[in-house]
Amino acid sequence: MATERTLSIIKPDATRRNLTGKINAKFEEKGLTIAATKRLHLTKAQAEAFYAVHSARPFFNDLVSFMISGPVVAQVLVGENAIAQNREIMGATNPANAEPGTIRKEFAESIEANSVHGSDSPEAAANEISFFFAEIEIVA
Ligand code: ADP
Ligand code: MG
Repeated sequence: MATERTLSIIKPDATRRNLTGKINAKFEEKGLTIAATKRLHLTKAQAEAFYAVHSARPFFNDLVSFMISGPVVAQVLVGENAIAQNREIMGATNPANAEPGTIRKEFAESIEANSVHGSDSPEAAANEISFFFAEIEIVA
């Protein structure tokens, strides 16, 4: 295993319910370091660009509307095997299928409003981190 970086987003359903601290505690308890953090309210164009890979999916327009419905917190998480580790901490996309103790099991409202995003591969992590952060802002 190697030290990796991954991009996390705390989604609008979670910022609306003031869950940022509880979600970040789960990352830190599992040994991930929050190496960069930024709260922002995405524009429609930014959300469409971030989720461009899903543009052909039937849920794309709803997903974009949801992601711009309130503030998000974009973060770089760093640690051993961070990409897979974060996906494990998040739980399955659909909270009904998520394992106990995961963020989505505990906090998600629905398959769409599922509280967190996490990069799913090293390529996605690199692209998604550079979407939000300059190198100088990432301090592990
Ligand atoms: P994940 O976030 O677990 O990597 P995907 O990359 O497949 O999941 O989907 C991106 C996001 O799109 C999900 O986190 C969720 O917010 C939304 N989404 C995925 N599948 C659906 C669906 N069937 N209906 C509504 N929204 C969905
Ligand atoms: Mg995904």
